[in-house]
Amino acid sequence: MADTQSDLDQLLQQRPWLAPVPEHLQQAYRSKRQEEFGRLVRLWSPLLPIGFIAFQAFTLVFYTAELHGPDLSLLLKSEGLDIGLLMGGLLAAHQVRWRLSFDRWIPWVFGLITAVKVATGFLLHSPVLAVNQVYITLMVLLIGMLGLQLSIRSGIRGSLVGAVPFLALPWISDIHYGLLFLGHYLLTVTVALFVVAVREDKDRMMFLQSMRLQQERQEVQRLNAELAEMARRDALTGLANRRVFDESLRAEWDRARRNRTSLALLMIDVDHFKRFNDRYGHPAGDRCLAEVAAAIASVVRRPGDVAARYGGEEFVILLPDTDASGATELARRVIEQVDAAGMAHEDSPTAANVTVSVGVSHCLPHGSATAQGLTDAADEALYEAKSTGRHRLVCHEWRALDGQ
Ligand code: GH3
Ligand code: MG
Ligand code: MG
Repeated sequence: MADTQSDLDQLLQQRPWLAPVPEHLQQAYRSKRQEEFGRLVRLWSPLLPIGFIAFQAFTLVFYTAELHGPDLSLLLKSEGLDIGLLMGGLLAAHQVRWRLSFDRWIPWVFGLITAVKVATGFLLHSPVLAVNQVYITLMVLLIGMLGLQLSIRSGIRGSLVGAVPFLALPWISDIHYGLLFLGHYLLTVTVALFVVAVREDKDRMMFLQSMRLQQERQEVQRLNAELAEMARRDALTGLANRRVFDESLRAEWDRARRNRTSLALLMIDVDHFKRFNDRYGHPAGDRCLAEVAAAIASVVRRPGDVAARYGGEEFVILLPDTDASGATELARRVIEQVDAAGMAHEDSPTAANVTVSVGVSHCLPHGSATAQGLTDAADEALYEAKSTGRHRLVCHEWRALDGQ
């Protein structure tokens, strides 16, 4: 992701004019073009046939005197052919399957419509009608290339197809008219292609910028998620931090009260940890805390249980829907797991290895009972475990009416 991002940054800064979209973004660019084409088709669908017919009506009204005999039938036939091509193109553009490949067939439809116009211009007898035809052809070129926002490639292809009738130039009677028509055609195509190129370059640039923005948004979302996770973890041990514990205690307390279920709390404290630090140094003390945390995490299995660092060398485990026997069983396993880690503590009067004491409290939330009372009860149980020899667990049931 970071690579692609810097690639895009570089491209946006040093991109040469009309540089193509990079290979790995081609698919996304095509989809965006198809989507835009669909939007244009919806916009132009009613306007194009109306415009075509309006041009025709304009010719019929203003050139009534010139329109007789073969010129009238020629114009009607050529207009009928072009409207047929246009309607066929519009119908195809409304089909999703055809819209996907629009860049391939659009130049043909556009080119054939233009070619019919050019050929008609050569076949008309009336010079006035012929000049009118040049004007209409140039309008078709402009509307097709700019209105439909053709790509440069499609614009070139379409105008080449449209220019095919000019191959008959050597054989037409009025060569002066033919060359004038060709000159205007080439000039209009050149101007239109220039506008098309400017538009397409801007289009590609905007696409790359939108991709860059999208990447940035994803990166911000990822960082936010990472930050939110960091704000919930204790950096040293990887367990949940005090804030998560406080939140969980409130939530689980309310839930236990609603559901009338038991809630248990284990408060775990490393025995003679000050001496451990004094003997082995603070960094070793940190490693020891991380090992104790790993031992604690290994016994917590139920999804609702929360193991957290309470502060310093004290840890807590919150056990929703757990009674005295379940909580003491877990406390026993914590003590066993820390013993099993076998971390030497030569200055401990209690044992040769690092040990922990655990205060357990549990209650069925009721009447005047509070979550703080449960924590205090666990703390008192822990104090009792410490004062009666350490490396053990003491369990207290807490009842608010018992004078707690
Ligand atoms: P007890 O058996 O009564 O619990 O004795 P103790 O020495 O463990 O108790 P005390 O509360 O006196 O000492 C706790 C020590 O834990 C003091 C402090 O230096 C140490 N400590 C607290 N947080 C950290 C920590 O993040 N890293 C390290 N290395 N030591 C810590
Ligand atoms: Mg302590
Ligand atoms: Mg301690």
